Amino acid sequence: MSVTRQCILNFVGAAAAALHRNSQYLTELDAAIGDADHGINMDRGFKAVIARLPGVQEKDIGTILKTVGMALVSTVGGAAGPLYGTFFLRMGAAAGDKLELTATDLSAVLEAGVRGVAERGKANLNEKTMLDALQPGAEALRQAVTRGEGIQEALRLAVAAAERGMQATIPMKALKGRASYLGERSIGHQDPGATSSLLILQALGSSCGVEA
Ligand code: ADP
Ligand code: MG
Repeated sequence: MSVTRQCILNFVGAAAAALHRNSQYLTELDAAIGDADHGINMDRGFKAVIARLPGVQEKDIGTILKTVGMALVSTVGGAAGPLYGTFFLRMGAAAGDKLELTATDLSAVLEAGVRGVAERGKANLNEKTMLDALQPGAEALRQAVTRGEGIQEALRLAVAAAERGMQATIPMKALKGRASYLGERSIGHQDPGATSSLLILQALGSSCGVEA
């Protein structure tokens, strides 16, 4: 089983739908430790993404993912826009002109995206950011693929690891972004960016982790 261009298009559509459905929830999480705009930001960005997808449906996976990244960079304000923009741009660069990805390709693509987020945000694990969901997710995918698991099982494990990572942000003190201004008062709240990252990885799992 491989990851086709169609499942990448489905993934982007499923991510947009999930972020739209959870927009209020993400904004409520951001109200607790930020400025109450994360859901609005993500929904606006992915609406712009959906508007641009018809123009690249016939292109390679790299072009599709880079188009997503450029739409996010140009429409999402705040910290999340450039970070998720970089995530998709780097994934697109890693996918290149491929029309299908093997499990190993998919793992390399995801890791390239996550490295981009870490570089762009100068963030490390345990700083209460989106990286706390993305990095364990990418790491679990790589380990599963290295063990020889199929894409379906590898994505299931990646989503489970990202979910644990998201939950682990609750007791953390924020060290990056707006939430870090709160210091100790950021403790006890789930990070909005880690939550949107889980939604995005779940969309990948539900779109590309199923038999075609
Ligand atoms: P803003 O904080 O500018 O209002 P958003 O509310 O859209 O932007 O996004 C906030 C999320 O961005 C946080 O929950 C966190 O996960 C993520 N974030 C903020 N700064 C960084 C960073 N330097 N590295 C990684 N993620 C970050
Ligand atoms: Mg915000």
